[in-house]
Amino acid sequence: MSTKPTTEGPAATEGALREIKAESSLTDRVRDSIREAIIDGQLAPGSLHSVQSLANVFKVSRTPVREALIDLAGADMVEFERNRGVRILQTSVHDLEEILVLRILLEVPAAFRAASQIDETGLEALRMELGIMTEAARVGDEPTMMLHDRRFHEIINSASGNSRLTEYVDSLRDLILTRGVSTVDTKRSLDEIVMEHTAILAGLESGDGDLAAQMMKDHLVHTAALLLEQEGGRDSALGLGWESLVVGETT
Ligand SMILES: [Zn+2]
Repeated sequence: MSTKPTTEGPAATEGALREIKAESSLTDRVRDSIREAIIDGQLAPGSLHSVQSLANVFKVSRTPVREALIDLAGADMVEFERNRGVRILQTSVHDLEEILVLRILLEVPAAFRAASQIDETGLEALRMELGIMTEAARVGDEPTMMLHDRRFHEIINSASGNSRLTEYVDSLRDLILTRGVSTVDTKRSLDEIVMEHTAILAGLESGDGDLAAQMMKDHLVHTAALLLEQEGGRDSALGLGWESLVVGETT
């Protein structure tokens, strides 16, 4: 709220940024604030900002702003343009949030439907995928784990009877793979992933749609939290204002 309201365009959006007081870790705080503004979309993808204009917003000198921007350029959140300043890039965190929200919105009801529609062949296929995932977790083989995680979800989505949903979710996962991010970097998280899929399968085996949906939701919300944490995003997962819809009653 510190810029003059006389300018339009980028400066107007910068005006919405919160002011930062000069303190010891000034560069860190400037960087966090700019990152937050990019993820929130206050600094829109594609918009151009000079170091000076951002320094004005934060009421600091250009040095901490420039240092913060160099960090953010390293994270592919901004790109320096010669003699012009920085351009805000579409962030992977924002992309991830959108993708994960969509997965939750689609796959949770799909699991609910699948519980009443999946047949023994489908359940057997899920057990086989889970068996491979369990073994992959045991030896720490993440690529195999992710491949069969994907098949596991595809079988459930397919069992919901909605082939477009199945294809669409699968294409969303391609986008995440393109980003090169994954949720797993420790043995513990691999084991957790297996446990979550075991719980989903149990819900489907019992034919309990509510349970299957809840376990799917827990799994995807947890996945979202891990991915976003890894990408250095916001503290709470799913910050697009969808919490009440997609997280809702999850405890
Ligand atoms: Zn999964």
